[in-house]
Amino acid sequence: GSSTLMYKSHDQDKEYVGFATLPNQVHRKSVKKGFDFTLMVAGESGLGKSTLVNSLFLTDLYKDRKLLNAEERITQTVEITKHTVDIEEKGVKLKLTIVDTPGFGDAVNNTECWKSVADYIDQQFEQYFRDESGLNRKNIQDNRVHCCLYFISPFGHGLRPLDVEFMKALHEKVNIVPVLAKADTLTPGEVKKKKIKIREEIEQYGIKIYQFPDCDSDEDEDFKQQDHELKESIPFAVIGSNTVVEAKGKRVRGRLYPWGIVEVENPAHCDFVKLRNMLVRTHMQDLKDVTRETHYENYRAQCIQSMTRMVVKERNRKYAHAEGREK
Ligand code: GDP
Repeated sequence: GSSTLMYKSHDQDKEYVGFATLPNQVHRKSVKKGFDFTLMVAGESGLGKSTLVNSLFLTDLYKDRKLLNAEERITQTVEITKHTVDIEEKGVKLKLTIVDTPGFGDAVNNTECWKSVADYIDQQFEQYFRDESGLNRKNIQDNRVHCCLYFISPFGHGLRPLDVEFMKALHEKVNIVPVLAKADTLTPGEVKKKKIKIREEIEQYGIKIYQFPDCDSDEDEDFKQQDHELKESIPFAVIGSNTVVEAKGKRVRGRLYPWGIVEVENPAHCDFVKLRNMLVRTHMQDLKDVTRETHYENYRAQCIQSMTRMVVKERNRKYAHAEGREK
């Protein structure tokens, strides 16, 4: 029977195949190679995208950023830029790529402003598809976008038409995680109301945002509670800051106002820590899995389908041509 596949380990009486060490193997291997992750930020300019990214990864990713003046912004088309940083923590390396979509929502005419973003995501899929079918499959540079943080303005009444249009255009290509920008401009009550309104609208307009995987029924209560809280946090209310201030004798990332200090990493002030934990600690692998198994797979299937169609068309054309000659 199947026992012929097994061998007895010397130090244990139990039959032992060895796959129990798989998680460790995967882990060791990826620790050595390092992880990579590509995060896209999108939304109207001025909503605090670059500030939040800097706060999230404690780096200044935008040192050389050139801010455009009003006139330049009127004519600007959506231009996509990429920044890469290598971060290392306790010997674990992470190659983080941030894809920025500046100027979005700035131009006078915003119809189809999502188009260049959608094209960008497709181009990365296309490149991967080519590489995967090519000769050097071992060393593919994977530039697929794993997650898109979509910034929603705190000043509107829920979603704006542009938000709906943008998210619907992208939701089958990338994991969208909506965030409520500049949450320090709202009272806790307002944040709560806005979140509910935005969640309702997401549902109403059929926008498919990234779904946290359901936890199994045998998971412990703490974990379930955490999972529930995470789902209730959507859209994450975020605050960003590039400055360190002193609060209660501690130096923290925060925003200093005449009436007090807003602390970015204080869970009572916003969902920043929740968002960072989700992205980095708990759901990074799932975001990558969903990208590969759902979004990329969709792209790939469409590609193959249209390639097949082309082949059939070409064959029919040749056949018809040959028949025509015979007559
Ligand atoms: P981007 O164009 O979306 O990248 O926006 P920036 O990160 O350049 O931020 C635009 C302005 O908003 C800057 O003056 C920031 O200091 C400010 N800002 C960024 N994040 C926040 C926030 O969370 N709350 C508040 N009140 N202001 C913010």
